[in-house]
Amino acid sequence: MTLYVVPTPIGNLEDITLRALKALKNARAVYCEDTRRTRILMTHYELRAPCLRYDDHNLREVERIVDRLKAGEDLALVSDSGTPVISDPGLRLVSRAREEGIVVYALPGACAAPTAVAASGLPGDSFLFLGFLPRSEGKRRKALEAAAAVGKTVVIYEAPPRVLSLLDAASAAFGPNARVAAARELTKMHEEWRLGTIDAVRADLASKEPRGEYVLVFHPGKDTKHDQDD
Ligand code: SAM
Repeated sequence: MTLYVVPTPIGNLEDITLRALKALKNARAVYCEDTRRTRILMTHYELRAPCLRYDDHNLREVERIVDRLKAGEDLALVSDSGTPVISDPGLRLVSRAREEGIVVYALPGACAAPTAVAASGLPGDSFLFLGFLPRSEGKRRKALEAAAAVGKTVVIYEAPPRVLSLLDAASAAFGPNARVAAARELTKMHEEWRLGTIDAVRADLASKEPRGEYVLVFHPGKDTKHDQDD
């Protein structure tokens, strides 16, 4: 009957809303990116709904889930962490559910991008979220140049082995005055921030191999919104 798109913590298990817990408790099944990851959360909160694997590429399975919803079941969709669909699986199911006129409720909750923007000290009144950039160097350069041309805060997800080369490409695209806030392991015990010009942050991160999960928040030009308002 209803598809609940449920955000789960991006690190700290306490970052889950009462409404999300209720949706997970009442769902006939919870569709997961990785059932083992989701079971850790379900066990922590003593939730017993069955966890089933969801794969955006398995079209037959997507149709089976849509049939369950049409038959009147309430189902939940989660990803390994944060908000499903945001650089995570779920789009195919949500768009098929919408096509079929099924009620879809996305619950507000954990998501690495706005969490990083909110603590970055960089303007959050409007920002571009690019998710993961293309792997190809040429496509990545074009994406960064286009983003830099907009002149707003830019948020990018990147895996640790590619953080330094992303910073090199960003330095070329945004220029020497651009700022970056590199947020590592948000909400976890070893949360860490590096703030400054792109080149300075790159030099700092290069001293030891980047590990863990990173969100990079860039802003071209002046330091903060206060400077821009002057
Ligand atoms: N759906 C998730 C969300 O709502 O943020 C994003 C999932 S995406 C597959 C994973 C990427 O998100 C990581 O590579 C990293 O860039 C970012 N990320 C997720 N959790 C993070 C955390 N605790 N600290 C920093 N970055 C994180």
